[in-house]
Amino acid sequence: MFLDVKELAVRKLRIRKIYAPGSIDYHSAEIKQIEPLEVTATAELLDRQIRVEGNLETKIELVCARCLEPVIEEVSRSFDLFYAPLPKDTKHKEDRLRDDDTEIGFYEGEGLFLADVLKEQVLLALPLKVICQSDCRGLCPNCGANLNHEECRCETHATDPRMAPLARLKQDWLKKQ
Ligand SMILES: [Zn+2]
Ligand SMILES: [Zn+2]
Repeated sequence: MFLDVKELAVRKLRIRKIYAPGSIDYHSAEIKQIEPLEVTATAELLDRQIRVEGNLETKIELVCARCLEPVIEEVSRSFDLFYAPLPKDTKHKEDRLRDDDTEIGFYEGEGLFLADVLKEQVLLALPLKVICQSDCRGLCPNCGANLNHEECRCETHATDPRMAPLARLKQDWLKKQ
């Protein structure tokens, strides 16, 4: 859905929309929308600024930073955002949208896509790092076993460096037999 300034100049828009999983690109393989994103919002033009106010709800699947298992995050966020026309001489397109809660965002040309606004709000709502459980034991750096589900055998096979001379002696002894 495109929020067109010319349309908004005529009337305030009431939005109720559902974005199916996959229809918003979060630009990350580790962020997967697994349920429809529901948005209820209004969009209007106020003094040449586009104001988008409302709330969204969805469920996002992330990846545990320790064991790489999926972690589900429920996202529920309300927003009240202002987007000003991008000044003509601005070179950096990435500055088009706001990058924190206080700064004003920008739109370029005729308006902005609602999906871009929503994507940004979802990303802001997500934690930078998730862990599936506070005592997640992660993966064994050696064999990759998920230590929450299995005991890996690396530990029992790893040789304690202090025992190495003894192990050598034992081997020599065995060879002589
Ligand atoms: Zn984990
Ligand atoms: Zn291991």
